[in-house]
Amino acid sequence: MSRHRVVLLPGDGIGPEVVEAARRVVDASGPEIEWVPMEIGAVAFEKYGDALPADVLKEIRACGVALKGPTTTPIATGHVSANVRLRKELMLFANVRPVKTVPGLETPYGNVDLVVVRENTEDLYAGLENEVAPGVITSIKVITETASRRIAKFAFEYAMRWGRHRVTAVHKANIMKKADGLFLECCRQESLPFEGRVRFDDILVDALAMKLVTNPTQFDVLLLENLYGDIVSDLAAGLIGGLGLAPGANYGPDCAVFEAIHGSAPDIAGKGIANPIGQVWSGALMLEFLGHPKAAASIVGAIERTLADPKAPRTRDIGGTASTTEAGKAIAAAI
Ligand code: ATP
Repeated sequence: MSRHRVVLLPGDGIGPEVVEAARRVVDASGPEIEWVPMEIGAVAFEKYGDALPADVLKEIRACGVALKGPTTTPIATGHVSANVRLRKELMLFANVRPVKTVPGLETPYGNVDLVVVRENTEDLYAGLENEVAPGVITSIKVITETASRRIAKFAFEYAMRWGRHRVTAVHKANIMKKADGLFLECCRQESLPFEGRVRFDDILVDALAMKLVTNPTQFDVLLLENLYGDIVSDLAAGLIGGLGLAPGANYGPDCAVFEAIHGSAPDIAGKGIANPIGQVWSGALMLEFLGHPKAAASIVGAIERTLADPKAPRTRDIGGTASTTEAGKAIAAAI
């Protein structure tokens, strides 16, 4: 079995805690990984004055894969988000966030199984903000045909590969007729080669929000611009038990970076109580990408068995009292 070099980015906040749990579980699953630990986020900013040092980008390019924890982005001030920069620099254009009901947790719906496919490089995340007059700010939403077609094609190919039957484009093209209109048109164009194999439809983002909380089981693959994708994936994570559970992956032409959907959760950082499952599950997505579907499935199975067992340690966000380390060790042991 070949050995993989993987950049390990603990990040900051709860990142080091959940990434350590994920590393432990990935190691327990079998494939040989040579971890290359590196610093990003607040830790790197304090040390080097840069939240995303150039040698980190270089190493991810060389390895092609990273397992990443969250990084804190100062609100309304301070440095540009390391996450946004990472995605742009490495052209990680597709953010994929599977949201699936897990056993053993009381949630309003028993069988949610959807995937958020989010465009990762443009939209209001372009960071083009100006004070045009005192008290008047413009924030520019950038939508391009190239990026919209690229993410739409990705979503249809993803649906084909994973046996999914429907892709729903999410937009607000009744109001943003040009920007969201272009996104929707690109999705329509890219759906054509898949006609008869993957169903295509679309929905307004506000209508989607309502339908997700009243009947989320009707959705399969959701295809969204950057900002809608961010908001909808947090909402979707709430449907299966919270932010601590949902995994994510960022794919580009040359590299892939795997990270849970939650942020750095400063309110609980350093307390050892964060739920490691989203990060551990992201490790499973990484193994799938590296060509180890059995190891990936063994991790997901271990997560499911652990959650299904009321006596197994679980963190407090999902009703338990266990620490991050205890919850991670239980999953590793269940493999
Ligand atoms: P960002 O903008 O960086 O994505 P966010 O605004 O989505 O961050 P989070 O940092 O994800 O916010 O945290 C939101 C809430 O969810 C916080 O109360 C946090 O404690 C909780 N939370 C997030 N991740 C976890 C986790 N792994 N375990 C337990 N609670 C979590």
